[in-house]
Amino acid sequence: MQNIQLYNTLSRKKEIFEPLHAPHVGLYVCGPTVYSDVHLGNCRTFISFDLIYRYLMYAGYKVRYVRNITDAGHLEGDRDEGDDKFAKRAKLEQLEPMEIVQKYTLGFRDVMRMFNTLPPSIEPTATGHIAEQIEMVKEILANGFAYEVDGTVYFDVEKYNKDHNYTLLTNRNLEEMLANTRELSGQDDKRGRLDFALWIKAKPETLMQWPSPWGWGFPGWHIECSAMSSKYLGQTFDIHGGGMDLAATHHTNEIAQSEACNHVQPAKYWMHTNMLTVNGTRMSKSAGNGFLPGELFTGDHPLLNKGYSPMTVKFFMLQAHYRSTLDFSNEALDASEKGFRRLMSAMNLLPKLHAGETSDFDVQGLKLRFEQAMNDDFNSPVAIAELFEAVRWINSIYDKKAQISEQDLLELRTFLPVFVYDILGLQDEMSQSGDFQEVMDLLINIRQAAKENKDYVTSDKIRIGLTEIGIQLKDSKEGTTWTKI
Ligand code: AMP
Ligand code: ZN
Repeated sequence: MQNIQLYNTLSRKKEIFEPLHAPHVGLYVCGPTVYSDVHLGNCRTFISFDLIYRYLMYAGYKVRYVRNITDAGHLEGDRDEGDDKFAKRAKLEQLEPMEIVQKYTLGFRDVMRMFNTLPPSIEPTATGHIAEQIEMVKEILANGFAYEVDGTVYFDVEKYNKDHNYTLLTNRNLEEMLANTRELSGQDDKRGRLDFALWIKAKPETLMQWPSPWGWGFPGWHIECSAMSSKYLGQTFDIHGGGMDLAATHHTNEIAQSEACNHVQPAKYWMHTNMLTVNGTRMSKSAGNGFLPGELFTGDHPLLNKGYSPMTVKFFMLQAHYRSTLDFSNEALDASEKGFRRLMSAMNLLPKLHAGETSDFDVQGLKLRFEQAMNDDFNSPVAIAELFEAVRWINSIYDKKAQISEQDLLELRTFLPVFVYDILGLQDEMSQSGDFQEVMDLLINIRQAAKENKDYVTSDKIRIGLTEIGIQLKDSKEGTTWTKI
């Protein structure tokens, strides 16, 4: 078992990862709100947790990974105000709310597949767990931490904070928070400014509503994650994750609700991913700077010089640590595209290497350093730097400028694909399709025929054109072969 250290937002430091019931690990990540397409910022968070999920499995843990789908109860404002996002979108697109949910859930899964992320073990939906949410609200009411006003149930933050620490996760000062929150007006039903809704009374025109002990209504946003995480992972489980923007409100409220209901902390470790930014501003739907993955792949966006493949984009993200911000730029993506190609070319050379007498480089050391980087709070940029060390050696061995022993070559061929494909979750896009080899054969045959006809303009056009897209042709007595550069 690897000795993993992870940064726990709760303690604000790195801790040795000790699961509650090893080798089993419970991992809960807040999933997408499926009222519109996910943008690339959302994808960064899910790609980061995919890496964490994959590495925990590599480290020998049996992980139950729960990532929810928010398909109800998310109002536009964070403070239980504004329109319901699903109802608004349904009206706009002239669809049923559940058609909106289906459309954007399928779209989200397509994008996750394109990025080669593993599906979670369970993908529960808020609308599928209304009964569990109602039960939890009942329990919180019974424990005296909530109150009902005319069909809406609010969580009583000040009461809770008397014998608990409401701002445990972010360590903020409650007095300051109160000072920065809008004063209640005569129209507010809440008693305290920081109180939040557990259950919201429906208006007659509300499209998605369910019966409850407090009349027809719908759940507040935060309660779904408390209900679903405890249902599938237990009242206390190992890791709860999400984007950093969720810590101050959504996760803070989740902790309060779960404590008020079950009298225990919901998660032992809280992990938060940092934001993808554009020119320093957080990418978000509301800021209007949210690239859709499709726009990035085609290049059809005013900020893009060209399109980038899903693996280039994923590699770009993995080259930053999940707790650092990552700023989007064409230059950075260009560099990632080159780097990714170099890595894939070396991976393709791996089966073609020949063993020599001894090894000029320390294969075991490289493996250890990769693992050390990943054990240090999943430090993928350092781990990738180690892979580039391997790339340099593979190229030198292939060019006969260095050598590797039989045993080390076997070792390298065993762990390198595991690191690249299983842990980082990268894919060689060019060899993904069986059609690709057929297309290459066709081009090689046309070039051969052109050469035989002394039509060097055509044959050069094919060779140079392929080089420009990263494919090198090699002519030999046996015929022409191709490699990626
Ligand atoms: P949402 O669909 O808005 O609920 O967001 C889904 C996930 O994406 C949440 O975990 C957010 O914290 C995360 N997220 C939103 N914006 C960004 C961003 N710019 N960079 C990274 N993660 C983000
Ligand atoms: Zn959540």
